Amino acid sequence: MSAKIIDGTAIAAEIREEIRQQVAEMQSRWDRVPGLATVLVGDNTASATYVRMKQKACAEAGIQSFGHELPADASQEEVVGLVSELNANPEVNGILVQLPLPRHLDEEAVLNAISIEKDVDGFHPVNIGRLAMKGRDPLFIPCTPYGVIVLLQKAGIKLSGADAVILGRSNIVGLPVAMLLQKENATVTICHSRTRDLADHLRRADIVIAAIGQTEMVTGDMLKPGAAVIDVGINRKDDPLARRGYRLVGDVDYESAREVAGAITPVPGGVGPMTIAMLLQNTLRAAQIAFDGPR
Ligand code: NDP
Repeated sequence: MSAKIIDGTAIAAEIREEIRQQVAEMQSRWDRVPGLATVLVGDNTASATYVRMKQKACAEAGIQSFGHELPADASQEEVVGLVSELNANPEVNGILVQLPLPRHLDEEAVLNAISIEKDVDGFHPVNIGRLAMKGRDPLFIPCTPYGVIVLLQKAGIKLSGADAVILGRSNIVGLPVAMLLQKENATVTICHSRTRDLADHLRRADIVIAAIGQTEMVTGDMLKPGAAVIDVGINRKDDPLARRGYRLVGDVDYESAREVAGAITPVPGGVGPMTIAMLLQNTLRAAQIAFDGPR
């Protein structure tokens, strides 16, 4: 059996086109478009690339973006001061502080400073708290976990009653994915670096979400036949034939897993493009609430 490939690039493109149309409608209805402010502190090359990709995606959707860059030695007061200015700016509907921040900065305090109505990354403790409470209804769902759930839904995977195993318990991926799958009535097991016999858990899973940052650790023999596998991991693997000397692979060994799984996301081209699409979706929602009140 060869798994159905869940094409994140195509699904994200569909979502981005829908957003573009809604932004155009907003423009004609209110003569305003959503605005996203990005905050980049320091000169981390990967972070700068992510911010550029997000700004380009905004431009394609008709969303205005406001880029802010601070030096690597910016003080806590400067970063929080910028966030406060953006909170007060009516043209800015969403604020994205690109993580990780330089080590001398208190990341949690910076995220805390973002107004909850503009927290389009969904990392504000209030948003996470609302996700954790009964009802599980945050104002904004964190983008990567949101993308994971949409991929499963678009692929027609039955979530209610399914046994889901999540590898990883981080604040930005594993934990919110677990809460969202519970909201969808899946039975959730969270595995992490201290879990005994990971494969034993995996072999019982109808749905596997891999978010551990371990190159191709999950192999086909660890999976239940027919399982849906969402690979969040992005890892560099040496490849002398590749232009840069490496290629990107996931936490799942794609070749062996696709022979056993029922559906699987590739890396790249799975969860990655969805993260950006859901950021645009959250920015659109923030603008809708700002222009028209909550729906
Ligand atoms: P973190 O490093 O914050 O968390 C990793 C988690 O995996 C931890 O809970 C850790 O356990 C667990 N873990 C690590 N090694 C093992 C192991 N050998 N067996 C079982 N569990 C293990 O990573 P993130 O959540 O930030 O990211 C995970 C992956 O997803 C990375 O590859 C990252 O690049 C990718 N990513 C992709 C995104 C996308 O848009 N596609 C967005 C964000 C992340 P413990 O808690 O015990 O330490």
